Amino acid sequence: MPINIQDFKDIDPGERLLLGAGPCNVAPRVFRAVAAPSIGYLDPYLFKIMDETQELLRALFRTENAVTLPMSATGGGGMETAFVNLLEPGDQVVVGVNGLFGTRMCDIAERLGCEVVRVDVEWGRAVPAERMEAALKGKSPKIVAVVNAETSTGACTPLKDIGKLAHDHGAMFLADTVTSLAGIDVSIDADGVDVAYSGTQKCISAFPGISLVSFGPAAIKALEARTTKVPNWYLDMTMIREYWGPARKYHHTPAINMIYGLREALRLVFEEGLEARFARHMLNHKALVAGLEAMGLSMLVPAGERLPMLNAVRIAEGADDAKTRGTLLREYGIEISGGLGELGGKVWRIGLMGYNAQPKNVLLLLAALQAVLKGQGVKVGAGAIEAAAAVWAG
Ligand SMILES: *Cc1c(COP(=O)(O)O)cnc(C)c1O
Repeated sequence: MPINIQDFKDIDPGERLLLGAGPCNVAPRVFRAVAAPSIGYLDPYLFKIMDETQELLRALFRTENAVTLPMSATGGGGMETAFVNLLEPGDQVVVGVNGLFGTRMCDIAERLGCEVVRVDVEWGRAVPAERMEAALKGKSPKIVAVVNAETSTGACTPLKDIGKLAHDHGAMFLADTVTSLAGIDVSIDADGVDVAYSGTQKCISAFPGISLVSFGPAAIKALEARTTKVPNWYLDMTMIREYWGPARKYHHTPAINMIYGLREALRLVFEEGLEARFARHMLNHKALVAGLEAMGLSMLVPAGERLPMLNAVRIAEGADDAKTRGTLLREYGIEISGGLGELGGKVWRIGLMGYNAQPKNVLLLLAALQAVLKGQGVKVGAGAIEAAAAVWAG
C-alpha cells in the first residue's frame, strides 16, 4: 500500500491527568532532560551520568548494593531480570500471591522450570508473615518473594518480617517495589531484601520503558555459583554489570535519553527529600479517602494495610464502571483504572503517584467523580471537598 503521509498527523493526545495505576504524569524538568542530545554508549560524559544515576538509586533503595542499576526493560522486565538471574531449573520458590503481580511472579518462575509454592491470600489484603511462615515450614527454597505494593489491589505487604523468615530458611528474599519505591519507605538493606526491582513510571514519575534492579551480596553470590548459564542473554546480569561497573564492557546500547530522564526525576526526589515525599503521598491519600468516604464510597483494603499511592475503592452502587471511567477521561481528561482479574467490575483504582500526589488533583478527581456519578443518577453523599480540605488543614 502506498503511504499518504498527509494522513499521519502530529502526535497530540491532549492533556491528561493520569490518576490510574500507572503511568503517571511526568514533571516538566524530566521532559527537558530527555531532550538533551544523545551521546555514544562509551562517552565519558554518559559514564558520569550513569554513575550518578546509580548513586541516586542506591540512596532511594537505601542500599549499599554495588549492582544497583536501570535495565532497558519495563517493570515486568525488572521482575524477569530478578528471577532469570537467580533461578535454575528445579529450584524451589515460595511466592506470596495477593494480586496480579504475585501471580505473574509464579508464571515467570514456572517458565524457568522451578517448583513454585504459592501462598494465596485474598486480593485486597496484605500477605501475612504467619502465612509465609506456615508455607515455609520444613522447606528451604532458593527464593521467597512478595510484592511490596500490590498495584492490582492497593494492599501493602511489609517486608521486614518476611525477609527474616526467608533468611531463617536459608532462602534469598526478593521484593517487587515497582509501585512502592519513592512513595513509601523502601529500605532494602534494613529489611533484608537480597534482590529488588522497581519501575520508573509509578512514584518516581519518569517515563515508562526502563526498570530498576538491585542485587545484594547473597544474590551476587548465587549468580556466580550458577551451574547453568542465565537462560536469557539480554537480561544476563553477569554481562550487564560489566558495562555498568568499571570494566565498561559493551553489552547493549543503554536507553541513553531515558537515563537522562530518570536521573532528573531522581534529582527531583532528593530535592524534595524522601521523608517529605512519603509524607506528601500519605497526606493526599488521606484527603482522597476522606472525600471518597464522604461521598458514601468504601475502600477495598482495610485501613492498616492501604497503600497511599494506589487507592482501590468499591464501585458505587448503581454506577456503570466503564461509563464512569470513559466520561472522566472524555469530559475531564482524567484517567483512573478499573479492577483487574477477580476485581474487574468491582473496584476503581485511583493512583496518586509521585508528581501527581497533589491537593489540586485530589480536588479535581473528587469533584469530577461526584459530577459523573450524579449524572448517572447515583446517590452521592455531600461534603467530599470539605472532608478532603479538613485533612489538609490538619
Ligand atoms: C506496574 C507494575 C509492574 C510492571 O511494570 P511494567 O512497567 O508495566 O512492566 C510490576 N509490578 C508491579 C507491582 C507494578 O505495579
